[in-house]
Amino acid sequence: MVDLQGQFQGIKEEVNQSFEIVLESAAFINGPDVREFQKELEEYLSVKHVIPCANGTDALQICMMGLGLKPGDEVITADFTFAATVEVIALLGLTPVLVDVEEDTFNIDPKAIEKAITPRTKAIVPVHLFGQCANMDVIMDLAEKHNLFVIEDNAQAIGADHTCNDGTKKKAGTIGHVGATSFFPSKNLGCYGDGGAIFTNNDELAHTLRGIVNHGMYERYHHDVVGVNSRLDSLQAVVLRAKLPRLDEYNSKRREAAKKYNKAFSNQTNIKVPITVNGCDGICDTCDCHVFHQYTLRILSEKRDKLVQHLNENGVPCGVYYPIPLHQQKAYADGRYDESGFTVTNKLVKEVISLPMHTELDDEQISFITKLVIDFVNK
Ligand SMILES: *Cc1c(COP(=O)(O)O)cnc(C)c1O
Repeated sequence: MVDLQGQFQGIKEEVNQSFEIVLESAAFINGPDVREFQKELEEYLSVKHVIPCANGTDALQICMMGLGLKPGDEVITADFTFAATVEVIALLGLTPVLVDVEEDTFNIDPKAIEKAITPRTKAIVPVHLFGQCANMDVIMDLAEKHNLFVIEDNAQAIGADHTCNDGTKKKAGTIGHVGATSFFPSKNLGCYGDGGAIFTNNDELAHTLRGIVNHGMYERYHHDVVGVNSRLDSLQAVVLRAKLPRLDEYNSKRREAAKKYNKAFSNQTNIKVPITVNGCDGICDTCDCHVFHQYTLRILSEKRDKLVQHLNENGVPCGVYYPIPLHQQKAYADGRYDESGFTVTNKLVKEVISLPMHTELDDEQISFITKLVIDFVNK
């Protein structure tokens, strides 16, 4: 699905040299590279504060702790996402409220959010699934109207642009009150282990969060709040510093691959290619509205499972993200949920298939993959 060895060749010397410096200096935790990376990412995202941490799941959890969410508070998020999003809500004793997504974009449906809001609702967690922002304009309006926090799960969309209704452009993860991302190796900006970060423009919240990631300490050995131990280490920061200046190029390579896939599938009635919003004809050259963390098709002919098998038999990796709606997972099933509220997710889990998507895909690979898919679907 991804080719991390191929990508490594382009940054090998830089990374190895910097690794050596870290190893010689032994500044493994909170070393200069972590601080430099933090500044570089703040600049790239045009956000006031980046708080590095140990992984994307922690980042989400720490956001919720920092906002002072308390047991019993309801947090609305998408039914169609990776489990980490709902996991941390449950772990903190908050009440997850799962809602349906939009068929075209796979992202949380603002109409479903609105319906789910109660007097106990405290936050919305939109997930920018597969590399494209959820409908942030409507979500921010809803949040303002009902006095709710918006925590963006930006694990899959780092570098993506969101063009707001007023025409201003913002980077995914910097639109809500706070954003969380992951540097898991296969993400668009991945390190060589675990890593994550939190973004916010709010000075007070940033200060709170910086203490929480470090055992609730604001002054050495003074623990003002209950915190966690969640740090990005220097070796990971080195990798991220090498990759960040190349992130736009990496994302544009993904977009090029997506364009080629789209073209090959354009006349296929049983295959729906991913739809991008922002009115720019899907994949435009002028903005990064979709950074294709995944290239996800919908197979409408009920052949999805057989297609997965067929691709695997022919040596083509593929993935089904996600095969089971969260509201049907044992850990998160709840008598509160009614299947009629999840018609889109229930359908998508049977239709979606993600094809290989990374920075090293070449034309030959794309033709091979698209031909296999098209021949099989039309058989
Ligand atoms: C990867 C991912 C996470 C969690 O990130 P980790 O770094 O693996 O903890 C959270 N949410 C979404 C949508 C993800 O894709």
